[in-house]
Amino acid sequence: MTSDLSLASLAPAYIRAIAPYQGGKPISELAREFGLDEAEIGKLASKENPLGMSPKAHEALEAALADIARYPDGNSFSLRAAVSEKFAVQPDQIVFGNGSNDILELAARAFLTAGDEAIYSQHAFAVYPLVTQAVGATGVVVPAVDFGHDLNGFLAAITPKTKLIFVANPNNPTGTLLSKSALKAFLQQVPAHVLVVLDEAYDEYLSAEHTSEAIDWLQHFDNLIISRTFSKAYGLAGLRVGFGLMHAALADLMNRVRQPFNVNSLAQVAAVASLQDDDFVARSYAANQAGMAQMTQGLTRLGLSYIPSYANFVSFKVPNAAAVNQALLKQGVIVRPVANYQMPDYLRVSIGLFNENARFLHVLEKILQP
Ligand SMILES: *Cc1c(COP(=O)(O)O)cnc(C)c1O
Repeated sequence: MTSDLSLASLAPAYIRAIAPYQGGKPISELAREFGLDEAEIGKLASKENPLGMSPKAHEALEAALADIARYPDGNSFSLRAAVSEKFAVQPDQIVFGNGSNDILELAARAFLTAGDEAIYSQHAFAVYPLVTQAVGATGVVVPAVDFGHDLNGFLAAITPKTKLIFVANPNNPTGTLLSKSALKAFLQQVPAHVLVVLDEAYDEYLSAEHTSEAIDWLQHFDNLIISRTFSKAYGLAGLRVGFGLMHAALADLMNRVRQPFNVNSLAQVAAVASLQDDDFVARSYAANQAGMAQMTQGLTRLGLSYIPSYANFVSFKVPNAAAVNQALLKQGVIVRPVANYQMPDYLRVSIGLFNENARFLHVLEKILQP
């Protein structure tokens, strides 16, 4: 019998060095661990849409169940047409992913190889190091400034080995936002042979003045890859669908490393229906604005500081964050510790429905004032 140790040695050193992704704790797991009733658990850990999904998506899913025995359309024809129309890009400028995490990974697999460097910020989304390390490339971490991306630091970190730069805007888990002018000035200074992946997972949660104009910039920057998702404001996290927008020549390369059926048929129909429901996205935006105000006012009332957030979560500072997290779990409230993001004094809470936010604040208050 082989020992685990020798099995581990079968993987290259750069694979063994990867720290596993830590997601929000599933409700069922917490229920098992603490003997709680699932119905009493509030999950505010994974930035899921508390309104669920668009009723139009729900209807489309029910209709699509009849065809589940068939393989999906590997080119996502209908979804491609819908995204092309909605975002005013050519169909060949779009790459679809099994969630936008897949887009991030396809970018790494298409453009990075061992010895190359990818740049990302301290406290940036955990998937950037994951996909970089998985192809044997080297991650270059630029120290954050006020928890946000230091774009001048990014420029200074570019070397002849740099192939890819990951920018999250807004960023997770900090919720920080770069201004459009700062981003554009940055793109103008990045050498043409260095690709910039601009991850806009939370764009639908931005107010009109802040929403991205990056799609217009694709005309000027051939090295720009924009990543979008249906997991957040569209409420389809469980189905896994996202997309990248870029120059058609880059899309062609990313499609070569893509699994032919990476986006399942239910995800495709639900995404098409979701794009036709602007009202649902508007309601999700409004609910998030109200919930964010409720949450930040509540945190302030408890004397806690937080990082002002442009997304659907907020990271707040609390003494003994790990112990507070445990105490919250015992009360059936799941938030997200962010110690693995080098933020050991912070917890990240997703914006839920009014009652979920209120319950979280109430339980937190009790924990902090015994
Ligand atoms: C949640 C999130 C995503 C979305 O991931 P999916 O794979 O589309 O579910 C992408 N980027 C960031 C920064 C995120 O926080």
